[in-house]
Amino acid sequence: MSASSLPLLNPPGPAPRDPRPGLSGVAPAELERWFVDRDRPAYRARQVADAIWGGRAASVSEISTVPAAVRAEIEAAFRFDTVADTELRPADAGLTEKALHRLSDGALVESVLMHYPARGGQRERHTLCISSQAGCAVGCPFCATGELGFTRDLETAEIVDQVRHAARRLAADERRLTNVVFMGMGEPLLNLDRVLEAVDALNDPARFGLGARHITVSTSGVVPGMRRLTALGPQFTLAVSLHAARDALRDVLVPLNRRWPIAEVVEAARAHARATGRRVSYEVTLIAGVNDTEPDARAMADLLRGDHAHVNLIPMNPVAHTPWTASPMDVIERFAATLRSAGIATTVRRNRGQEIGAACGQLAAERAGEPPAAAVARRRDRLVEESATALRGERSRAAVPAGVGE
Ligand code: SF4
Repeated sequence: MSASSLPLLNPPGPAPRDPRPGLSGVAPAELERWFVDRDRPAYRARQVADAIWGGRAASVSEISTVPAAVRAEIEAAFRFDTVADTELRPADAGLTEKALHRLSDGALVESVLMHYPARGGQRERHTLCISSQAGCAVGCPFCATGELGFTRDLETAEIVDQVRHAARRLAADERRLTNVVFMGMGEPLLNLDRVLEAVDALNDPARFGLGARHITVSTSGVVPGMRRLTALGPQFTLAVSLHAARDALRDVLVPLNRRWPIAEVVEAARAHARATGRRVSYEVTLIAGVNDTEPDARAMADLLRGDHAHVNLIPMNPVAHTPWTASPMDVIERFAATLRSAGIATTVRRNRGQEIGAACGQLAAERAGEPPAAAVARRRDRLVEESATALRGERSRAAVPAGVGE
């Protein structure tokens, strides 16, 4: 649990975990080996895979292409589905839909499906924002997930099954998922092995078949993970949650900045852009009077000038238990103008689904209940004090969040 999280919102291990791996997280070669090891023909693995990825079955018992005895063996060894939708909340006149998923041990994670109608020659898009961890150790104070603290890493299938669920809902309306972004609960690069396996499953034409360029992996700046991604050279988009161009302020807004400061993060992002030829996307949540001033905009322009980069400016989602509010739109537009005048491609994003708590972690936090009032008051006071110190230009002396590590 990070230093800035509130205690007991999402205590780890609410129930024992189902030890059976999820089928959607098993690589095709592994599944084939499983059948061959049991003296079953390898083509059975392909029949099972077809049922999973073709969307024709909703459970192992519905895989009609394999005999009942084999189905029983599969059921004993694997789970067909690793997430259960406990709640679906639509918003924005149906353009946004948030799903709250319960995992086998009772941990809650969220995904958000956003529909973008066709416009100006652009086809309609359906983008799903998914979670890679239950809770998050990074503890960004403007984020509801950061408040929850860290519960655990998601398994590969638990990541992929969020996508399968959304794809099933879309297919019912004869629509297809076009984009997946790892920007839900958790820091993807702190669960990188599972995230890479999930990306593989989503990208593989024989499985989900989503083009790599339609997949975005975000990070709050885990530099070793960024370097590892660059070395692997995949073609998906890297998004960096920057939020501030000055270390003193970023120490507060993104606490792992105390471990990997801005210069290291941006250098790792530049190396990624050079190696892959792909533009890095920087996400900047703007908070009124905290990181939205003209000096902040100029510092960001100086930092990113000349980079192969794109900046997304996002007004802070209203999150309980912070002393902060979103920057007004005219301030955000001024910030954008400063970046654009430095030649930096910049987009102002509107908040989606505020009335359903679309920022990651808000539904799970709501389910977890209100933390003790005294803890909330202490947190608010600390954030006010820390941001005031940062605005004076002093670096944080607080510890690096536990669990962030190397
Ligand atoms: S913004 Fe992302 S990295 Fe920061 S606490 Fe929330 S989920 Fe974690």
